[in-house]
Amino acid sequence: MSILEITRVVLLGFEIFFVMMAYNLQDSIDMDKNNPSKTHFGYQDVDWDQKQAKVNEVFHSVAHKYDLMNDLMSMGLHRYWKERALQKLLLRQGMAVLDLAGGTGDLTKRIAKKIGNTGKLVLADINESMLQEGLRRLDDAGLFQVECVTANAEVLPFPDGHFDAVIIGFGLRNVRDQNAALREIYRVLKKEGRALILEFSRPVGFLQKPYDWYSFKVLPRLGQLVAQDAESYRYLAESIRKHPEQEVLKDMMQEAGFADVSYENLTGGIVALHLGWKF
Ligand code: SAM
Repeated sequence: MSILEITRVVLLGFEIFFVMMAYNLQDSIDMDKNNPSKTHFGYQDVDWDQKQAKVNEVFHSVAHKYDLMNDLMSMGLHRYWKERALQKLLLRQGMAVLDLAGGTGDLTKRIAKKIGNTGKLVLADINESMLQEGLRRLDDAGLFQVECVTANAEVLPFPDGHFDAVIIGFGLRNVRDQNAALREIYRVLKKEGRALILEFSRPVGFLQKPYDWYSFKVLPRLGQLVAQDAESYRYLAESIRKHPEQEVLKDMMQEAGFADVSYENLTGGIVALHLGWKF
């Protein structure tokens, strides 16, 4: 961990402490057991075709406060995670890049700086509310050349071999059929293209307990305090626990066809960056 990261983790500790003092947290974590005949929405078992609608409700509900909450919840760490993810993508001027599940376009804006005016940049998301927020932000930043597309990651509306790079940031865990999404990402990549999955993952030993406590006790309360929406932030914490851990996701990427798959843990594995290539 760099000094900057350690400082942020310490600051996070203070944040947790103050929120705990303010709310005198007592209740226990309710961890429902998984029912294999259904899929999961956080810790709830739901019918397969209900999941996407429920995910859409969450992001519709958080869209207007999403960026503020991102900064608050991660103590600004998401900026560092995103920059590191983009470094690994080895973007160059003129590349064609897809920001999948790109929501409010935070990664899109960063990518635009790296690929310049000669690049082709697409922001795709299944949720209209998130995309509208994204469109507004891109316009404010003068990035009118970005194409905004409503799309489900499971069935991408792009031809084969279309992009040099695809990034999906904090999006994959919300997708109902993650294997289908990985196959689609692989399909739309050009030969020698690469995909980067930036996602919450499994933190290493000593971080697990404080991280669980923060996610299930503090996050929903922060969500209630700032966005008047505890439920959506509870879902976010639960969906992180349901997401495949580092090695499993690596296997899934290989299964989808990716070569040279590797991953890097950030902030003690709270986040992992999975990189795979199409050869
Ligand atoms: N990538 C952005 C970022 O890092 O700030 C937004 C991440 S946000 C946590 C997750 C996004 O995934 C939401 O905008 C949501 O609408 C989108 N999403 C969920 N399911 C999706 C799907 N099946 N296809 C495409 N986008 C999806």
